Amino acid sequence: MAIGLYIHVPFCVKKCNYCDFISYPYDAGLTASYVSALLKEIELYGQQLSGKDKELASVYIGGGTPSLLSVPQLEAVFGNLGSFFDYVPGAEVTVEANPGTLDREKLNNWKAFGCNRLSIGIQSMNDSLLRFLGRIHRADEAAHAFYLAREAGFDNINIDLIFGIPGQGMHDWSDTLRRVLELGPEHISAYGLKIEEGTPLARLQAEGQLPPGDEDLEVEMYFHTIDTLRAAGYEHYEISNFCRPGKASAHNLRYWANKEYLGLGPAAHSYLHGERFSNRPGLNEYCTALNDGLLPVAERNPVDRHGEISETIFLGLRLINGLNLKDFRQRFGQSIEELFPAALDKLERLGLVEKRDVFLRLTRKGLPLANEVFAEFV
Ligand code: SF4
Repeated sequence: MAIGLYIHVPFCVKKCNYCDFISYPYDAGLTASYVSALLKEIELYGQQLSGKDKELASVYIGGGTPSLLSVPQLEAVFGNLGSFFDYVPGAEVTVEANPGTLDREKLNNWKAFGCNRLSIGIQSMNDSLLRFLGRIHRADEAAHAFYLAREAGFDNINIDLIFGIPGQGMHDWSDTLRRVLELGPEHISAYGLKIEEGTPLARLQAEGQLPPGDEDLEVEMYFHTIDTLRAAGYEHYEISNFCRPGKASAHNLRYWANKEYLGLGPAAHSYLHGERFSNRPGLNEYCTALNDGLLPVAERNPVDRHGEISETIFLGLRLINGLNLKDFRQRFGQSIEELFPAALDKLERLGLVEKRDVFLRLTRKGLPLANEVFAEFV
């Protein structure tokens, strides 16, 4: 089966206050070293893989801020992908972009390189909340970036949003949803803010300068998102993802179906040939390995049967249609009822999951409690 390819671009103009992803402040020299290492990584995998493993069903260039790469740098990346891999017809090719870093020239060129989907990190349409999050753009710049992308011919655009931001009321969130719906993207990802350890927001919280989040309000905002976007004609197809019919993210659907993918770039994770492995997280170590002609893999973990079963269940349950029980039985030779009778019974009694046809899915009550449900299948 053809694979999905993820490329991590580990640079940002500045770190957002909530972010714990691997990213460095943009530096032209470091970025040039990274790109040259990445080109070698693409080449090494191109030489080592064969058959279907060299066929790309989807490519996702994420980060970090991929839109910080110059046009010639991204052209070189796409050039190497074209030289060492084959795209399957209709492959989805996404580039993530930060509204503060987009311009006409970049967008026109990306289109010419074969990028057919954009993911724009807008997060909020409220300027004071954007400042609180440490974003580098204002709401009007986000809308402008969206219109530029449309002008460049992008007809498949995702917008990333965050709700549950301290200080955000239901009115603010409704207003953000309304203004995003006016833009009319094909896809919307909406996540509740998580305060991650080691981030400036976590420090503020530890110092008592940030009140604890209002969980009830966050759940209310989540249901409001579902109801508003459904009423506007979007399909709610994954816990946090919504799309116009036929515009679900092919790349992310691979993750949720627990299918194989290859990750390139510092700290990128892969799942290939029954093994999960991850790259060295440090930029220097990543570049040094590739300059020495070695793959920059830090850790390899074969996935045992139990791990694969658990992952398949909780990834499948992320989908609103749910986990296909027939496929599950075919893949593992046992049904979920045989493997987890007590957990299933408990979750059904609590009304958190339900069976519909051949699917097991989270109920509306279970959606905001997804992590608690998943914990029952570990
Ligand atoms: S732009 Fe994205 S990756 Fe970069 S710091 Fe902000 S949230 Fe993190």
